[in-house]
Amino acid sequence: MDTKDFQRIRAGLLERRRNLTDWLSDTPASKKKIRLGAADERAVQTHLQVLDTAIEKTEDETLGYCDVCDDYINPSRLEMDYTCCVCLEHLSGEERDRLEDDLQLSAKVQQALLPQQVPEIPGLELAAFSRPAEFVGGDYFDFFRFRDQSHGLVIGDVMGHGIAASLLMASLQASLRTLAPDHDSPAEIIRRLNSIFHHNIHLTKFVTLFIARYDPQTRSLTYSNAGHNPPLLFRSQSNGTWPLSWLAPTGAAIGLVEDTQFGEETVTLAPGDTLLLYTDGVTEAKNAQKEEFGQERLVELVRQGSNRSARELVREVRNRLEGFTDGQPLADDTTIVAGKAEGQ
Ligand SMILES: [Zn+2]
Repeated sequence: MDTKDFQRIRAGLLERRRNLTDWLSDTPASKKKIRLGAADERAVQTHLQVLDTAIEKTEDETLGYCDVCDDYINPSRLEMDYTCCVCLEHLSGEERDRLEDDLQLSAKVQQALLPQQVPEIPGLELAAFSRPAEFVGGDYFDFFRFRDQSHGLVIGDVMGHGIAASLLMASLQASLRTLAPDHDSPAEIIRRLNSIFHHNIHLTKFVTLFIARYDPQTRSLTYSNAGHNPPLLFRSQSNGTWPLSWLAPTGAAIGLVEDTQFGEETVTLAPGDTLLLYTDGVTEAKNAQKEEFGQERLVELVRQGSNRSARELVREVRNRLEGFTDGQPLADDTTIVAGKAEGQ
């Protein structure tokens, strides 16, 4: 570790502290509740204290000084986790295996963005649309397979945009793709991603993530929602009504609070049910009068289009958004993923 290492880590930590402080003071309560899941604001304060302690330690250059021997921890390991305080070689076999797994995962950061192909899933039609506000975006959606071959779908949003957000998202995607074949549980993958990225100095704010696992045999959809805008699920009823369920957060956004729990929930899809995942760019798109598109318009639009196929629904949301903003440039990345449960 030299002074340059400390400066680089310090810059990352200061940016994260500033972003979280701004978020606390500028975010409406309703939105905080989504991002925090079951956690509360005090957990963010605790996180800020952890950041402050680390920032102080970059000033007197004691950050990353090993508790056991008389030396600094490897700087690249410290970038991945600024709180680590012993060298790898002092850890027990199990702790060490876990960390080495994490290190290998983060080495995949340089991978290019993977192609996003909408898969063919029996009984569930899927469609997606994504448009970055800048050349590169911080939105993310993907499809993958779990260990038992059930289908995974994910949508995420790195807060902030531009190159940094985009690189972090690429790295998260690579990690998720690497983890998925060894797991059956969305919550377990989110826990792993959180443990890998939580103290990464390149995570300058936080990441919202919704991961679902769909089993075509049982039609069950199990999801874990880390502070992401709740997806909409319209249930098809024989009386022609479309009651709405929100797939609410089951945990806080990744990198927002210290020590958080991630739960999961399961719903069973019936033929005709309509699922819509989306990012902030949809509900926060503004028209010329600076009015937001908003959640209510989105709900109404999906409700009216509940008989449509997923592809038609995505096209409809897109058209309505473009009509609403009337050619105004988008301030944020916009991503929509729709799913329509079909008869068998
Ligand atoms: Zn040591």
